This record gives sequence, C-alpha cells and structure tokens, in this order.
Amino acid sequence: VNAIARVQKPAEPDESDPDLRLFADRVRVYPKDVRGPIRRAKWAILILCLSVYYALPWLRWDRGPGRPNQALLLDMVNERLYIFDVELWPQEIVFLSGALILGAAALFFVTSLFGRLWCGYACPQTVWTDLFMWVERHIEGDRNARIKLDARKLDFDKALRKAAKHLAWLLIAFWTGGAWIMYYVDAPTATHEFWTGAGSPQLYFFTFLFTATTYLLAGWAREQVCTYMCPWPRFQAAMFDDNTITVAYQSWRGEPRHKKTDEGQFGDCVDCRACVNVCPTGIDIRDGQQLECINCGLCVDACNAVMTTLSRPNWLITWDNLVRQNARAAGRKPPAIRIFRPRTWIYIAFLTLGCTAMAVAFATRSTFDLSVQHDRAPLFARMADGTVRNGYTVKIANKHPIARRFVLTITNLAGASLDLPEESAARMPALSLVAGPDAVTTFRVLVRGARPPGGKADMSFLAVDQSGTDKAVYNSTFLGPGE
Ligand code: SF4
Ligand code: SF4
Repeated sequence: VNAIARVQKPAEPDESDPDLRLFADRVRVYPKDVRGPIRRAKWAILILCLSVYYALPWLRWDRGPGRPNQALLLDMVNERLYIFDVELWPQEIVFLSGALILGAAALFFVTSLFGRLWCGYACPQTVWTDLFMWVERHIEGDRNARIKLDARKLDFDKALRKAAKHLAWLLIAFWTGGAWIMYYVDAPTATHEFWTGAGSPQLYFFTFLFTATTYLLAGWAREQVCTYMCPWPRFQAAMFDDNTITVAYQSWRGEPRHKKTDEGQFGDCVDCRACVNVCPTGIDIRDGQQLECINCGLCVDACNAVMTTLSRPNWLITWDNLVRQNARAAGRKPPAIRIFRPRTWIYIAFLTLGCTAMAVAFATRSTFDLSVQHDRAPLFARMADGTVRNGYTVKIANKHPIARRFVLTITNLAGASLDLPEESAARMPALSLVAGPDAVTTFRVLVRGARPPGGKADMSFLAVDQSGTDKAVYNSTFLGPGE
C-alpha cells in the first residue's frame, strides 16, 4: 500500500521551471522615442483628443433660465443627458443605446478596412499611455537611459527621477479623473466645491477613484491592458479578412535578414531591431500579425528611418493587406485595394439603415410622455347608479421648458367619463391637465363607466397637448365585478 501511495502522490510543481508555471513574468517594455510622419500624426491626434476631453466640460451652452448651461452634461441627479441643444430623458435612453450600437458598428467597419486604427490612435488607453510615456521619457531619458536607470541601485538621482515621474503622473491622473467628474456635474460649481471642501463625498470619491485608475492603467499597466484586459483584440479577428489593411512587415523583401556586416545576397532587413525597440507593446512585427499589435505604425517610422540611412527604399514595414502582399511576394502586380466587399457592404447597410432609423425616430420623438398605473386596491368601486369606477395614477412627463396644458380622454370604452378625485361628481368626457415645465407631473384620475362584460375591458388613455400637434396613447384596462 505504501508503495502504491508513493507512486500515486502527485509531484510538487517546480515553480522555478518556466514551463510549469501558470503565469509568465511581465517583460518590461521600454519603448524608444521615434520621429517621423506617423509619430507626428499620432501626436496631433493625441493633442486633439486630450484637448476635447479636458475642455468640453467647460464649454457653456445657453438653454434659458433655470436650466444647466453646460454643453455636455449627464445630470445624474435630475436624470437628464444634455448634448448641446438635445435633452434626453431616462425614457429616451434608447437613443443613447442606439448611438453606442451605431458607434460599435462604425468601429467594426473601420476595423474591417484598416485594422485596429482605433487602438493605435484614439483609444483612451493608447492616448494616456502615450502621454505618460512622454512624461517618463522627459524625466528618465530615452529607452537605454531608462533601462540603465532601472537596473542600477537606488541612489539620490534615481529616487529623484522616480519621484518626479510619479508625481507628474499623479497630477495628470488627477486632472483626468477630475475632468471625468465634470461630465456629470456642472464644471465650475464642482471645481469650486472641490477646492473649498464643500463637495459631496461622491465628488471626492469618484475623483480619486478615476485618478487612481488613470494612474494605474496608463502608468503601470500600459500594454498589459491591451493584451490581457481589453476584449477587443480577442474578437477583432472576426472583422479581419485578407483585404484588411494592417501594419505588415514585407518579409518577401526583408528576408533573409542580415547584419550590416554580413556578406552575400540578403533581404533589406538589417536586423537592427529599431522596429522592436519603438514598439509600445514590445513585439517584433517581423513575426507576423499578432494579437498585441495595436497598429500604431511607429515601427513603420522607425524602419523608414533605417532604410533612408541605408539608401534603400522605404516602407519595408508598411500598411498593406494579405492579398497584395502575397502578390508582391510572388512577383505579381498587386491588385487594387478593395474597399467594397461582402462584409463591408453588410456594415454599410447596417449603418445606413441604423442612422436613418435613428434620425427619423429622433426627429419625430414626442415632446411629452404619458404613463398610467391602475390602482391596486381597490381595483374598482360600484357606484349607486350601477356604474363602476376605477382609479388610476396618470403621469405626464413634459419635456418642454414651459408648463403645458393637456387634454386627457378615454378611447375604446363606450360611455366612459373622467373625474378628478376632488371633483368626483363632475363626470367629464375629458380632463384638462396642466403639467409643470421640464418635469413629470402626477395626477389621480377616476374613470367611470358601465360594468365591463366579464369583469374586464381594454381601454386607452389619450393625451393631446394644447397645440393639438403632439399626442400620446397609453393602453390600460377597466375592471369591474365578474358577474
Ligand atoms: S527596423 Fe527595419 S531593418 Fe531594422 S529590424 Fe526592423 S524591419 Fe529590419
Ligand atoms: S508592431 Fe508596430 S504597429 Fe504593432 S504595436 Fe508595435 S509598433 Fe505599433
């Protein structure tokens, strides 16, 4: 038995054996600075994105007295989304959902054409990581200086540089987290309250929460977010095909690679690793298309600089698709880039239909909403004259900034009359209700009618605004005794 137990006892995993460990150690990436047109384009997009992000909460927009004058504001307290002249109520969240779905479809479309352009240029993770790296480079030096700095023991200079870098990162993160909060509360008010200590606990909590996440994601996690946390690289392959243009190493031209000192017939790649050294995700594009590649094109700038120095044609690393690369590799003339393909037609059709439907729905949206709730108890009351009375709670959401009068009637219920509880003897065919400006106004309404056959009848409330141009219908039921 002892012998069997000895045989069956599982071996302890050897944690020092890299093949048996569940998680690989992180390989630190030290991207080198690079100059070139693509880098300049990335800087321009970065400045544009950051300027819009930081400045937009401060843009004022006059909506009249008593209403917020911030151009873009998601007012959680009053449950409104303001986008310039557009005001969305919670009931209209479908427009926001629709816009997000169309945005996702547009992203799929762009990805199917040009690969991960979003990831490489406009994704917040890329933009802020780029900014944090720029700060790091200015404080700790370029790639080689940073590698040496990290390798050496702690001394005064290293401590000073590290402290300065983290302080700068924290300041940017704080500015970023604070700006994010200002999309939810009035920017000047929030700023004043924050610095005078008069802000709500939520104001301080969320500012520091978003400060911390910016600092961690852009300063520490960096490429790990793109590689391990973000789901987008996982399913982007579903949008790619052989015609999708991505950053590509032209191996047919570059291989066999060689050192500058090698002799013989070689490709154009001199194995200088400049493309690897500038890569923000630390990969080697010469290994082919990889999940980690964000399509930023910095390796293109780096390789072009090397090719220029060597007096060889640029674009050894380029933007191209597989079809054209295969043709070039076979010595054939590459076919023209195909923008219109079955998958892009699907995206175009979806975007066209979706945008049209959204535009029509938005242009014809109601200026008020009607909702009705039947009383739960009592369900009905028998009246002395043999009729039956039901109670309802009617809510009118008036989306106009002025009070409006609405006429409420009952349809589909023959002989029905309406009362307000305080005028229960009135028995009117219609009620005139005034709903407050930019608010939901609640009314108690009584409906009187003949006993419904079988104890239940379908009926509808119809509300028409004072101008007679806008109306809303709410289907409900009228209850009575079964027999
Ligand atoms: S930068 Fe160009 S030449 Fe240098 S290793 Fe990369 S592909 Fe080869
Ligand atoms: S391989 Fe080139 S394009 Fe891809 S992430 Fe690295 S530098 Fe950017």
